[in-house]
Amino acid sequence: MRLVLIGPPGVGKGTQAKMLAEKYEIPQISTGDILREAVAEGSCLGEKAKKYMDNGELVPDALVLELIEETVTQDQHDDGFILDGFPRTIPQAEGLDCILDRHDLALDEVVVLDLDESVIVDRLSSRRSCIDCGAIYNLKTNPPSEKGVCDKCGGELIQRDDDKPETIHNRIEIYKNQTEPLIDYYSGKGVLSRLDGSGSINEVQERIREDLES
Ligand code: AMP
Repeated sequence: MRLVLIGPPGVGKGTQAKMLAEKYEIPQISTGDILREAVAEGSCLGEKAKKYMDNGELVPDALVLELIEETVTQDQHDDGFILDGFPRTIPQAEGLDCILDRHDLALDEVVVLDLDESVIVDRLSSRRSCIDCGAIYNLKTNPPSEKGVCDKCGGELIQRDDDKPETIHNRIEIYKNQTEPLIDYYSGKGVLSRLDGSGSINEVQERIREDLES
């Protein structure tokens, strides 16, 4: 299965992709996670990406496409993948089509998770992630047992710089202007499912699984 998950920041793409990856035993490819790792390592890619990420802006298409081509063509992705956070622009979607065509591959499904803007702002402001293992919490709906400490590994929980109020608005605007046009793009290709991204993590997961299995 080659699946793409699209949705506004904070809709839970990362959490849902991780659960699907475990259930269907397909690797998850998160461009956000790969870029954050590159920044933490101080690699050449990380240095180029950091200034965009800190401002909640998109990293240039050419950089992200290079990263995707390297990743999707690795052996471990031969039997499929779940793309989370990519593509985010029409040029990225077109670039992905070219990469897949070159390797005789195709997408099976594109799932869009929809969520009201007020809920997005609320979720992003309450999101915390573990500095060591990347586990994600929500202070209101999925808090850690001990304040500021990861239940899974004991690491410190932090707020991502781009989840701070000043960048949240910018990220939502970018989603509307640059990512939402993908809905028409994929709907024209007959691979799109639009699902409600509200409710609990498990409710949304159930909706996606029902859709994939139907
Ligand atoms: P995410 O964790 O998916 O919210 O991504 C965090 C940040 O990484 C985004 O705000 C962008 O700066 C950058 N990023 C992740 N994926 C992409 C992408 N497909 N295109 C451009 N920038 C991206």
